[in-house]
Amino acid sequence: MSTSATLAMAAKARELKEQGKNIIGLSLGEPDFTIPGFVKEAAIKAIEENYHAYSPVDGYGDLKQAIIKKFKRDNNLEYKPSQIVVSTGAKQSLANLAQVLLNEGDEVLLPTPYWVSYADISKVAGGIPVEIPAGIETDFKITPEALEAAITTKSKMLIYSSPCNPSGSVFSEKELRALADVLVKYPQIIVVSDEIYEHINFTGKHASMAAFPDMYDRTVTVNGVSKAYSMTGWRIGYIGAPEYIARACNKMQGQVTSGANCIAQRATIAALESPPSKIQYMVDAFKERRKLILGLLADIPGFKTNEPEGAFYVFPDISYYFGKTLRGKTILSAEDFAMYLLEEAGVATVTGEAFGDPNCIRISYAASEADIMEAMERIKSVL
Ligand code: PMP
Ligand code: GLU
Repeated sequence: MSTSATLAMAAKARELKEQGKNIIGLSLGEPDFTIPGFVKEAAIKAIEENYHAYSPVDGYGDLKQAIIKKFKRDNNLEYKPSQIVVSTGAKQSLANLAQVLLNEGDEVLLPTPYWVSYADISKVAGGIPVEIPAGIETDFKITPEALEAAITTKSKMLIYSSPCNPSGSVFSEKELRALADVLVKYPQIIVVSDEIYEHINFTGKHASMAAFPDMYDRTVTVNGVSKAYSMTGWRIGYIGAPEYIARACNKMQGQVTSGANCIAQRATIAALESPPSKIQYMVDAFKERRKLILGLLADIPGFKTNEPEGAFYVFPDISYYFGKTLRGKTILSAEDFAMYLLEEAGVATVTGEAFGDPNCIRISYAASEADIMEAMERIKSVL
């Protein structure tokens, strides 16, 4: 299993900062906003009300009700409490799913670029990641034909995120339906739809695979509060799943971590019960920053970028620089390029190799406008 490249780059940037270097961190996908006041208040209230004990393994009953209402409100999805499992971050939700569903040698279909941890979470559960490449020409979105060509008798699971980390691409309902039309022919494949960036969507329209009646029984919807509510360190994620899968995740989690942090669960109720309009100010800011960073990148030679429709990343193709020597350093890969930007410009990004695309780097724009401007200026000057 390899180390998470996103976390490794963030750790490296932190280490350099501690050594006194002036580093701008655009590696980690982590909103720079503070947690909304009403969420903080719910956590404070929970402490004062003496919440302290182990929670039910799969989450408090009233949190599950809040999740059920959220799924209905935002996604038109109907779940029963027995179909919901709350975990310590969506990362644990994904790890549970891989552990309970994959057997040795099962293939996991990964539309590529994919979020870094999908591959290793699958591998550690005995699965074999199967990349389905989609480049910048198709806005990093796979076609139904490419999906079908990758399916074998061993295919067990498909994992994707929309809005996508790292490309920011968003599947429209029509595009998802076209993928579903392929998947209905292969009932052994479970779809894991990672919707953690649901609210950070500049198209205004979010589509869920489970909302198609013929996919509902085979789709697990993964979500969480890290991104939209800026609650990354509070570690709450959840799934809506077919009941037998939820039961298995509950069992797995009961042996590994028990229920998620009780205070964070209480705070999550407040987050999910509030209308999404309460967090629109963050989405608006991300939209402004997207415009800013795309404008600045357009001014740097050798960066080919799509227009991301959601999340808070740009994923430029920088293969133009391969084989070139800059300040005595020869760039042979996206990894070399990201290291060059870190060492020469003091800007931390993540190599696209970690997301299955060796031509790109990922830049997070979940940073202040001042940092984005300074970082792009520095990158431009060292290139
Ligand atoms: N899925 C995607 C696509 C992500 O970017 C992240 C970010 N960490 C996660 C899942 C996991 O989120 P968390 O564990 O913080 O809920
Ligand atoms: N999801 C974020 C990212 O991709 C956080 C880091 C992580 O959990 O790996 O940067």
